[in-house]
Amino acid sequence: MVNAISITDLKKKYGSFEALKGINLDIPEGSFFGLLGPNGAGKTTTIGILTGLVNITSGSARIMGYDVVKEYKKSRAIVGISPQELNFDPFFTLDDLLTLQGGYYGMKPKEARAKAMELLKQFGLESKSKVKMRQLSGGMKRRVQIAKAMVHDPPILILDEPTAGVDIELRHLMWEYLAKINKEGKTILLTTHYIEEAENLCDHVAIIDQGRIITEGTPKALIRDVGESMICIRVNDWPEKMELPQWQYTVVDNQLHIQTSDPDTDIGHILSILAKENVAVLEVKLKKSNLEEVFIKLTGKRIDES
Ligand code: ATP
Repeated sequence: MVNAISITDLKKKYGSFEALKGINLDIPEGSFFGLLGPNGAGKTTTIGILTGLVNITSGSARIMGYDVVKEYKKSRAIVGISPQELNFDPFFTLDDLLTLQGGYYGMKPKEARAKAMELLKQFGLESKSKVKMRQLSGGMKRRVQIAKAMVHDPPILILDEPTAGVDIELRHLMWEYLAKINKEGKTILLTTHYIEEAENLCDHVAIIDQGRIITEGTPKALIRDVGESMICIRVNDWPEKMELPQWQYTVVDNQLHIQTSDPDTDIGHILSILAKENVAVLEVKLKKSNLEEVFIKLTGKRIDES
């Protein structure tokens, strides 16, 4: 099977500074893939290479099998990019901006305008079609930015921080929309500073730090393998001879702290063992790990820290 995006031993130097130190990534078709990393990790450089904005130093990148350098016309035609920086002419109306964008990809004006209107409707901006870009709020501009990436109906979308500066309500609406179009078949590569966003949306994430991919996998597997979840149970009386040989745990003052990589499954097992031994349970608390904890553990940084 051809991967939607395939990156092999990709290196990028800016002068003597090596921003990418040989990265490898395979993103299957239909995936919702998150590229997470602290500031300066190399995310935008990677995306820039995929979309022809940054030159490769060595290695290669392919989109649907097309080399992004040698077959750039084909590779660029099948990708829509929503860059981090908002980039439109403030004096264009929304429908003109999107129609013109379609023109860049060879769409006829009528076809492009119809697609522009369809997208504006999907993004809840239909009533603003004749409004100039500069009259929009920041959240509206973000939505137009994504719509602009989608006018030529590319099978692959690259979204660099798509919800930056967007309020929580709109962010959740955008998540719903992105999840929907991914379900309908679009492959999405997303970079984000909101780890919760990646955890919610992505079927696969890669963590990049200082120009290297330091781990990748499904959010669930990363949390299981790297995170530290805990089940805390307060019992009435812990029998002296009682043991839970399957788990690592401590008991202090009738308070059990059990380490687990799968709290949802283990909690049932543990409670049934306690019930069998007639240990009265007074309180149960789960401390579930998350992708943020994984990220901090692996990079030693919070994602918004440089
Ligand atoms: P952020 O989350 O802050 O957007 P990023 O992961 O997207 O960061 P990049 O923008 O790819 O990171 O930058 C990677 C490194 O390369 C940084 O140290 C940055 O300063 C450097 N860099 C990026 N573009 C250039 C350039 N044109 N010239 C020199 N150095 C650059």
